[in-house]
Amino acid sequence: MDFTDSPDDAAYRARARDWLAANGAEYRTPPAEPYSRDELVRRSRAWQKAKHQAGYTGITWPKSMGGQGLSPMHAIIFNQEQSRYFAPTGLFEIGLGMCIPTVFTHGSPEIIARYVAPALAGDEVWCQLFSEPAAGSDLAGIRTRAVRDSDAPDADWIIDGQKVWTTNAHLSDYGIIVTRTDPSVPKHKGLTMFIVDMHGDGVEARPLKQMSGGSDFNEVFFTGVRVKDSHRLGAVGDGWKVALTTLMNERLAVGGKPSHAPDYAMLMDFARRIETDTGPAIEQRDVRQRVAAAYIADEGIKLTQMRALSALSKGQVPGPEQSISKVVVAKTMQEMGALALDLSEAAGLVTADADPVLAKFQGSYMAAAGLRIAGGTDEILRNIIAERVLGLPGDLRPDKDAPFNAAVAA
Ligand SMILES: Cc1cc2nc3c(=O)[nH]c(=O)nc-3n(C[C@H](O)[C@H](O)[C@H](O)COP(=O)(O)OP(=O)(O)OC[C@H]3O[C@@H](n4cnc5c(N)ncnc54)[C@H](O)[C@@H]3O)c2cc1C
Repeated sequence: MDFTDSPDDAAYRARARDWLAANGAEYRTPPAEPYSRDELVRRSRAWQKAKHQAGYTGITWPKSMGGQGLSPMHAIIFNQEQSRYFAPTGLFEIGLGMCIPTVFTHGSPEIIARYVAPALAGDEVWCQLFSEPAAGSDLAGIRTRAVRDSDAPDADWIIDGQKVWTTNAHLSDYGIIVTRTDPSVPKHKGLTMFIVDMHGDGVEARPLKQMSGGSDFNEVFFTGVRVKDSHRLGAVGDGWKVALTTLMNERLAVGGKPSHAPDYAMLMDFARRIETDTGPAIEQRDVRQRVAAAYIADEGIKLTQMRALSALSKGQVPGPEQSISKVVVAKTMQEMGALALDLSEAAGLVTADADPVLAKFQGSYMAAAGLRIAGGTDEILRNIIAERVLGLPGDLRPDKDAPFNAAVAA
């Protein structure tokens, strides 16, 4: 495999690097303290707009959708260069990575004309309303109902139910929501997807408090929420197929290591500078073993990601082996964080404002717990690896063909 840039890629990288240097100066270092909610929204929108005006948004999207019509390699190159900065990008990741591709794959021309451009330009924020208290891994088990308001073929829909873990719902303007429209058929067949206005009557987002102190996720309650039939994505009963478009984009988006997560070299430096009764911590055999394990995992992750890159550069879609990456990334982030916190003793337990390296390990340690769940839990990803990579027998799915209301009652 040759991972040097082609002449075209090298020119694109140089242009992106120059643009970032000229426009991202204020994001060269992390913020001294976390932004307030309003400041985060303001900066995220401004950064998205600046990229949009410079032609660095929707890099792989078709030009007909306002995108750049370039290859996944171009998107990877821009993201690699952008990851050298600490610009706020999170607010638009779900909308532009998952929701809007679903909208332009399944929405009507009017819906596409109304919603795609403002999202790309940073004017409207989107969230993904899939998981529910009793349906996460088993997404097809959702219970939020959508019922026609009358017998007219284009009648409005009324939505009632609850979603949970919805990232940025409290900051969003719109969401894509999976609902159950027919409980009398098997669970994958009675679903329908809609676009919902997050500021509309009957929508209430309640932020959840995280152990890190932040509040990025929400419970969202829907009570008699009216949605126009024109805001349906895909046919009635085709919601599972539509949701798969979103989930495929999600698997591609969450496979890799977060750009600012610490690596083994940072861990080794940290272990060198921690003094113990017998000298620097790195001289202890068990510490060296844990650093070596981090090195092995980091190299494995790098090579697995190169395999995906190699597939993309040949115009192929990375296979289910991408699931390996997330399982190993999240576990390695936790193990590296745990070693740094162990070595810091009591200092590891308090927020490490004064030590940015320890703060980074603490943040990564806490974020990794969520990463082991988001976009498919460790166990679900292992099931995928077992079934689709290793060809082992499938998981037991006894309710797959039963009508949803009979399976729930059983
Ligand atoms: C950081 C973060 C962000 C998120 N953002 C969003 C969002 O924006 N929108 C959204 O809709 N959702 C979001 N989620 C929710 C996420 O998709 C779900 O948490 C996830 O799918 C797991 O579902 P669950 O929490 O219901 O756990 P469950 O599915 O109930 O799983 C509980 C446990 O059982 C195990 N388990 C379940 N089924 C099997 C099986 N068949 N075989 C073996 N083990 C199994 C799981 O691995 C897990 O350990 C987010 C979650 C996190 C952590």
